[in-house]
Amino acid sequence: MWIQRLTLSNFRNYRAQELTLAKGPSLLLGGNAQGKSNLLEAAFLLATTRSSRAQTEGELIHWDALSDPQPVARVAAQIERRDGPLEIEVIIAGRPQGTERARVPASKRLRVNGVPRRQADVVGQLTAVLFSTDDMELISGAPSERRRYLDVMLSQLQPAYMVALQRYGKVVSQRNALLHRIQSGEAAPDELDFWDGELAGHGATLVGERAQAVEALAGHARKAHRQLSANTEELAISYSPRLEGWTGGGTDELVAALREALASGRQRDIGAGVTLTGPHRDDLIILLNGVAAASFASRGQERTAALALRLAEARYMADSKDDLPVVLLDDVLSELDKDRRRAVLSSLGEWDQILITSADGDRFDEGLPGSAAVFRVEAGTIQPA
Ligand code: ATP
Ligand code: MG
Repeated sequence: MWIQRLTLSNFRNYRAQELTLAKGPSLLLGGNAQGKSNLLEAAFLLATTRSSRAQTEGELIHWDALSDPQPVARVAAQIERRDGPLEIEVIIAGRPQGTERARVPASKRLRVNGVPRRQADVVGQLTAVLFSTDDMELISGAPSERRRYLDVMLSQLQPAYMVALQRYGKVVSQRNALLHRIQSGEAAPDELDFWDGELAGHGATLVGERAQAVEALAGHARKAHRQLSANTEELAISYSPRLEGWTGGGTDELVAALREALASGRQRDIGAGVTLTGPHRDDLIILLNGVAAASFASRGQERTAALALRLAEARYMADSKDDLPVVLLDDVLSELDKDRRRAVLSSLGEWDQILITSADGDRFDEGLPGSAAVFRVEAGTIQPA
C-alpha cells in the first residue's frame, strides 16, 4: 500500500501542508529541525493512531495554534491499498492555552472515509514500519522497548491484539492496586481470583500472538542480518515470556499456565505490591554470534541488528497482511557504512512506498534508485526539489 496524499494542519511545525506522493522511494531532504521527522511521525500516527515519540498528544499541536479559540491539529491521508482506497484522519483537539506550550490537555478523534471510528477500527488500516536512529534501544534498551516493538507491529496486524493489550494493561493496574490494599489489610487475598482470571484471559492472547510472531520474525531477522553483515554474523532472536512452566500449546493451555503462575506467585506479588508474572514483563532474547547482543555488541553491530529487526518487522507485516507496509526511514542511512547502506537500499524495490529522510549534505550516490522523488523540507514546508 502507499500514501497518495498527505494533509497536515497545525501538526508539529507544519501550519498547512499538502503533499502528493508517488509509489516508490521519496527522499525528504532538509537541515536539522526543519520537520523531516515530524512528517514521518504523521505517517506513523495514521497507521497506529499513536505518536512515535510524543509524551502527550497535546505536543503534536502547533504552538502557534495554541492560542486559537479551539486549537486543533489534523493529519489526513489518502491511502491506496490492494483492498481499495481509503481516507484516514486523526484530529487532535487541545484546550486553549494562550502561549503556554507545556502539557496541553488534548483529545483525539479518528475518521475513516469521513466516518467517526474507534481506535480498533483504524489501527492497521494503513500499515507502516518506522526505522529510526533510536532503534538501537531495541538491542541495548530496557525490555519495554522490545515489547513495544512487538506490540506496535501486532496491533497493526490484528485489532483483537490491540484490544487485548489495552484491557490487559488495565487489569494489571487494577490487580496492582488490589495487591496494595491486601498489603495494608483493606482487602482479602481471594479477591485476586477475579483479576487473575481476567489477566490470564487477555494475557494468553498476548503471549500466544507474540510467540507465533517471534518465530517468524527470527527467520526474517537472521536472513536480513546475514545480508547486512555480508554473512559474517549470525543474529538469533527468541521470545522469553515471563511465564514459568509454559512449554507451548494452544490458548487453553496458556490460560491455565498463566493462572497457575499467578496462583503460585501470589504471596510474592502481595509482598512486592506488583504483579511479577505475565506478558507485561516479557522480553526478547537477542544473540549475536551466540552471545547476548545487549552486553557484547559494538555500536555498529547494535545498529545492524536493529536494522535487521525492522526489516524483519516489515517482512512479517507483508506476509500477514497480504499487502505491503509503507516503509519510513528516519535518518538511518547516514549512520551506516557504504556496504550496509547498499544492502538496505537494494531491498527498497520490494516495498510499494518508502519515505526516506536525510539531513542536508548526506550523500546516497550508491544505490538510490534513479526514480526516487526528491523533496525539500524547510521550516515546516515541503516542496518538490
Ligand atoms: P533533524 O535533522 O535534526 O532530525 P528534523 O527535520 O527531523 O531535524 P523535526 O524533529 O521534524 O526535525 O522537528 C522540527 C522542529 O519542529 C523542531 O525544531 C521542533 O522544535 C519543532 N516542533 C516540535 N513540535 C512542535 C510544535 N508542537 N509546534 C511547533 N513546532 C514544533
Ligand atoms: Mg529528525
